Amino acid sequence: MLYELTIKSASEKLASGEISSVELTESILERIKAVDSKVGAYITVCEKEALGMARASDERRKSGKILSEIDGIPIAVKDLYLTKGIRTTAASKILDDFIPPYESTVTAHLWAAGAVLIGKTNLDQFAMGSSTETSAYNTATEYDSTTRNPWDLERIPGGSSGGSAAAVAADLCIAAVGTDTGGSIRQPASLCSITGLKPTYGRVSRYGIMAMASSLDQAGPMTKTVEDAAILLKYMSGHDKHDSTSSKREVPEYSSGLGTRDLQLKVGVPKEFFGAGLDPEVDKIIREAIDKYREMGAEIVDVSLPLIKYALAVYYILMPVEVSSNLARYDGIRYGYSVLKHQTPRNNNQTLDEVYSISRAEGFGAEAKRRIMLGSYVSSAGYADAYYKKALKVRTLIKNEFDRIFEKVDLLIAPVAPSPAFKFGEKTADPLSMYLSDVLTVPINPAGLPAMSLPAGFTKENLPVGLQLIGPMWGEQTILNTGHAFQQVTNHHLQKPKIK
Ligand code: GLN
Repeated sequence: MLYELTIKSASEKLASGEISSVELTESILERIKAVDSKVGAYITVCEKEALGMARASDERRKSGKILSEIDGIPIAVKDLYLTKGIRTTAASKILDDFIPPYESTVTAHLWAAGAVLIGKTNLDQFAMGSSTETSAYNTATEYDSTTRNPWDLERIPGGSSGGSAAAVAADLCIAAVGTDTGGSIRQPASLCSITGLKPTYGRVSRYGIMAMASSLDQAGPMTKTVEDAAILLKYMSGHDKHDSTSSKREVPEYSSGLGTRDLQLKVGVPKEFFGAGLDPEVDKIIREAIDKYREMGAEIVDVSLPLIKYALAVYYILMPVEVSSNLARYDGIRYGYSVLKHQTPRNNNQTLDEVYSISRAEGFGAEAKRRIMLGSYVSSAGYADAYYKKALKVRTLIKNEFDRIFEKVDLLIAPVAPSPAFKFGEKTADPLSMYLSDVLTVPINPAGLPAMSLPAGFTKENLPVGLQLIGPMWGEQTILNTGHAFQQVTNHHLQKPKIK
């Protein structure tokens, strides 16, 4: 089926004239009609726009003017990226009627390269969560629930980019883009058996992507193969004058660098990532992957990162501070949900403060409010020194520790999540247990490092388990090479869920 193609295979078929972009796009739209009422990957399917963009791509091809290798390829976009003229919600009621007046830099790059926008995917509200359960939208209409894991519809797809991961896994797009503040690309990629790369902080522009925690947020590709991640990353990356933290470093031709099968590298296994709480089946699958790398010629060495044990606490102090600051802009006046648009005799004479607080109380979900309050608390006058400033210092120590390790090894290998996909509701009653499930992904973001999740195998219950490759700053090429080499000798990434 056409919807099963990868970026690589679809672009070859488009180039040879075997298929058209309209045919490819129609195949995906039909697949969405057939199964997305069960999976619920999308908040908005952009049928009209997609067919228009596909037709334009086919026209370009006829006149020999194709823009790039992703010209005509349907891509799903997390509903956190602004898309001009197309509703963008961040999965929050506070932006339920928000139509952005401009386009994010990443998506602008994709459309400039000829890619086709197939739809906007579901996520945890403002990207806060690990299961897509904090979304305000029940996109899996057949179940009246949020996005479901295509491998087991009773389980969560991971989060926060759960819709993008489910869409890629269930062939509801050819590839997708997500964002990762503490694991939101890697963890859903792991739980849905796809490839997801969080690039180095600054590799990809954050302009036009709704900010969660600006010093941690990074956008990246979510794809069916490592090869596709390499292709998509190139188009996403690069300096942007609208984001002063985006790097001026040259963007490598990641995919042409992939051929290297030479695994003459030193891979560190950090023992802190294999501690108590790691599911034994996950442990076994990751150790098998490590053995595979050893067979392929990599030198495997045990390493230790003793400060990692503070990373989760540091993250859950720094991130809410930035969240509380970033979310201050949703004030019920400038855009989005406003109590003023819902005037009743009861509330038509509020003060300005009341407009703010009623609009925010009615618009934000519980998790967003929890983090705004946590962030305000730990950065308030009496507590900033004890919490926020101390966490900033520990962040630097953690970063230094990673930098030191990367003087000795080329890459680190670790699990992505302590367990496979859990069931709906299992962790929602206890936010702390949800936060703990991020323990293996969050240390990477405060350090700014690149890291990728790729399929490593399946548990006895046939639930996917992902492998995490962590690199030094700007080490995307090494990560991609090493991940691609794994996919040359394994077939986990080729398995497909059977959606019942
Ligand atoms: N699960 C983490 C959190 O809830 C990470 C979210 C993200 O990366 N956007 O904060």
